[in-house]
Amino acid sequence: MKNVLAGYTLRVPLPVPNVDGLHAGLAIVASAMCALWISAKTETRKAVEARRKAEKALRELKEQPERAEFRVERFELLWFPVVTASIQTMEITGVNPGLPHCAKDAVPLGLDKNEWVCARCGSRHPESLADTMVLDTISDLAIKYFQERRPGYRVLIKGRKSA
Ligand SMILES: [Zn+2]
Repeated sequence: MKNVLAGYTLRVPLPVPNVDGLHAGLAIVASAMCALWISAKTETRKAVEARRKAEKALRELKEQPERAEFRVERFELLWFPVVTASIQTMEITGVNPGLPHCAKDAVPLGLDKNEWVCARCGSRHPESLADTMVLDTISDLAIKYFQERRPGYRVLIKGRKSA
């Protein structure tokens, strides 16, 4: 017998993929957009992180006490008092008059037999040139200079009146 199936066209359905050109294109676009969205999210997260870090650094910087050194020439001697202040609260929290220095050599003097002596030029000064009263005067001057430079800072040091 001849081919019984002759006359019939065998139609085997081709395995048609569920995605045609359009859908494939859309899928690509969608995945690209998804990638963009993820990368945008990553970028946003990075930006947020960078901003957070910058703010933290700024906050730490503000919390760090500010130190300002001044040069004071008084009583034949040279002083380099240091004023410490809080930038955040605008308060002067400390003042250190430091050691007396030789006015000529700008080196700190050392005490020798109740006299301040310069190790470089050998000049001698009475010990009283750095007594409590003098130290207070130097400290007051340093605070005054600081407040001239930074108006609005209050003095917050124990045993010292607020200016
Ligand atoms: Zn000297």
